[in-house]
Amino acid sequence: MGFVTGLKCRECGRQYEIEPIYVCEFCFGPLEVVYDYKKIKKAISRKRIEKREANLWRYKELLPIDKEPQAGLYSGFTPLVKADNLGKELGLKELYIKDDTVAHPTFSFKDRVVAVALTKAKEFGFDTVACASTGNLAHSVSAQGAKAGFKRFIFIPATLEESKITSSLVFEPNLIAVDGNYDEVNRLCSEIANRYRWAFVNINIRPFYAEGSKSIGFEIAEQLGWKAPDNVIVPCASGSLLTKIWKAFKEMKEVGLIKEADTKVFAAQALGCNPIVTAIKNDTDVIRPMKPDTVAKSLAIGNPADGYYAYAAVKESGGYGEEVTDDEIIEGMKLLARTEGIFAETAGGVTVAVTKKLVEQGYIGKNEVTVICVTGNGLKTREALEGRMSSPIYIKPNIDAFEEALKKIKA
Ligand SMILES: *Cc1c(COP(=O)(O)O)cnc(C)c1O
Ligand SMILES: [Zn+2]
Repeated sequence: MGFVTGLKCRECGRQYEIEPIYVCEFCFGPLEVVYDYKKIKKAISRKRIEKREANLWRYKELLPIDKEPQAGLYSGFTPLVKADNLGKELGLKELYIKDDTVAHPTFSFKDRVVAVALTKAKEFGFDTVACASTGNLAHSVSAQGAKAGFKRFIFIPATLEESKITSSLVFEPNLIAVDGNYDEVNRLCSEIANRYRWAFVNINIRPFYAEGSKSIGFEIAEQLGWKAPDNVIVPCASGSLLTKIWKAFKEMKEVGLIKEADTKVFAAQALGCNPIVTAIKNDTDVIRPMKPDTVAKSLAIGNPADGYYAYAAVKESGGYGEEVTDDEIIEGMKLLARTEGIFAETAGGVTVAVTKKLVEQGYIGKNEVTVICVTGNGLKTREALEGRMSSPIYIKPNIDAFEEALKKIKA
């Protein structure tokens, strides 16, 4: 194998060898993986991919590994759910949910990026993996790192949802809860990454890690019958996922897997943390950092590393961005659950509620093929719903009591 030719600075274009590095020494721009697309085009075809197992590694030629996959062997290839009920509510004829609430093994799309990062960490010879996380990454690195036999250091903001902390702790990583927000955790981790020879999946392994997000885009197109959708709505934290879905469609066209790649890409954020959407709305490529305050904690990155590139992808694609309040987020979660039977975390509420707004404002056409990315499972953020749900109907264990209750339900 080996379709990666090196790393390249996204700003000045300077080339680097394949190493665990992430910024350009000359201009401090972020590094990106470079592929030999001509070689890939010869190596893959729709037929060849379709014969492979249903996980993200079916697109391994377009992922930055040199040998065989070593983590996440069951991650990815999540369902693309035809969402007719939700579509009816929103007024869309052909709506789909890309349902990563059931991604393996930890029920968010982060299992994709971690699969790639840990495989790369093995190739580089690391024995310790680490991350700065808003919650889901902690969960995934804890679990997949356990399976792959790594020592694990996981850094999170101390204010994270209790259920997310528990679901990481069960895998017994070294879980460090930092008294600060994500941006402060991330800054601390950059310092630690300079001092210890660890594979920080979203810092020094970031160029490789981030490529894992492309797999959502590859799958969407394959599942639509090798066709990119008209619109895709993507929740944004660092902005990386959005840029990579956009890149995925372009790459598929480049290597001949699809004919057209003119998808409009839309950014979804919470009003309490909307630096990317603000830039899109103000039509400025300057991302202004902010202090996050939202129930959508997995998206709470106030200083998004890929904010500028997400902005640029949205603009280039002809898409747009919207933001929603905490109440709208909860309504979005409930709407998705009530119509499609999918229990998403707060980030899913953001995407659904934003889609509703975009349709109302006319950015998304009624007859266009539209895909909403739902990126994490609701069981991980149950706290967000506390006090916002109706309660069960309590009865005594006899039929009269039930029929008494039934009258009230019917009334
Ligand atoms: C991390 C995360 C995102 C956004 O990821 P970025 O690539 O940082 O923009 C979206 N949804 C969920 C559930 C996440 O955990
Ligand atoms: Zn550079």
